[in-house]
Amino acid sequence: MDPKFADRVQSLQQSDIRRFSAWCAEIGGVNLSQGVCDQPAPDAVKEAAKRAIDDNHAIYTHMRGIPELRRAIADKMASFNGIQCDPETEVAVTVGTAGAFACTAMTLLNPGDEVIVFSPYYSYHANLLRLLGVEIVFVDTCPPDWRYDSEKLASAFSDKTRMVLVNTPSNPSGKVFSEAELREIAIFARKHDAWIVTDEIYEYITYGKKHVSVGSLPEGEGRTITISGASKSYAVTGWRVGYAIAPSVVCEKLSVVSDHLYICAPSPLQHGIVAGMTLPESYYQEMAEDYRVKRDMLADTLRGIGFEPFVPEGSYYMLAGFEEGRYRDATHATESILEGVGVATVPGRAFFRDPGDGEQQLRFCYAKKMADLEDACERLRKLG
Ligand code: GLN
Repeated sequence: MDPKFADRVQSLQQSDIRRFSAWCAEIGGVNLSQGVCDQPAPDAVKEAAKRAIDDNHAIYTHMRGIPELRRAIADKMASFNGIQCDPETEVAVTVGTAGAFACTAMTLLNPGDEVIVFSPYYSYHANLLRLLGVEIVFVDTCPPDWRYDSEKLASAFSDKTRMVLVNTPSNPSGKVFSEAELREIAIFARKHDAWIVTDEIYEYITYGKKHVSVGSLPEGEGRTITISGASKSYAVTGWRVGYAIAPSVVCEKLSVVSDHLYICAPSPLQHGIVAGMTLPESYYQEMAEDYRVKRDMLADTLRGIGFEPFVPEGSYYMLAGFEEGRYRDATHATESILEGVGVATVPGRAFFRDPGDGEQQLRFCYAKKMADLEDACERLRKLG
């Protein structure tokens, strides 16, 4: 039977992130493609989730999440992000950060509205916006430091601009937006009466440059929705626990959207994350330091085989360029490396406004156990 797919999904394809991840599993390679973050979660987090199952925390939670988790999130927003929020009215626990973004976008955007997105960008953000019939206006950030041009940002705004999306630290470039940049973005957003949505899922993974939340700046006050989640901070990407911090009227509506889509995030896992949020500051410092060591190891390996890595300021991804002629294009490079030495990556073209800008680049994820990353590096060295 002809499935007669809806218009909105006609051009929707499986992401390259997923495609190469699945292919890698088939051949038993090392997956540096999808940011699966397959490292052990902290014991405290696992124990609390197990206890919650034993204690029969098995039914739907409040649509905005369990009160203990909302309180823990509000405390963390105050102490780490510098944002004061009311756990009763301004915090919504969602099904992952992707769920927080989907609910926010569905709450605020109509088809034909424009959203400003910095390129390179996370393809799931763009595809969700496309599903909603929203027009994306890209502003390029350029290597090696991934700065954007202020004039180009200014001219990206129009009377249809409803939202500016910021992802800091960024997937895939690893850019950590500076306070000055965030102030400027917020000033432009204010001038055009646009929302700022900021995905800060990698907020604890920075290497020296301070993570700043645009919602903590006076310029961003009242018009920022901050989204984040537990996936990367506690290595639980499959648990799907995220959250949005938003002015109460927006929070209320996006929670209703979340309720209609998902009802609630998994109850025992919300309890697990409450335990995660009591971990000391040293936990996050050690995690970032561990990623710094892995980042440097991967960057050295890539330099050693003639790639040019753009060493990230944050997140756990690294874009790296290869010289013209080495491979036909980024997809060919990905396929040839996967088939040749069993290491999966993502073609750079999946992340750029103009896919051509990413044809000489690959994205490598280094959120791996040390032994697996060492294995991947050893395999990559055979390409030298
Ligand atoms: N955020 C992760 C990545 O960029 C995982 C994404 C996913 O599976 N959609 O690889």
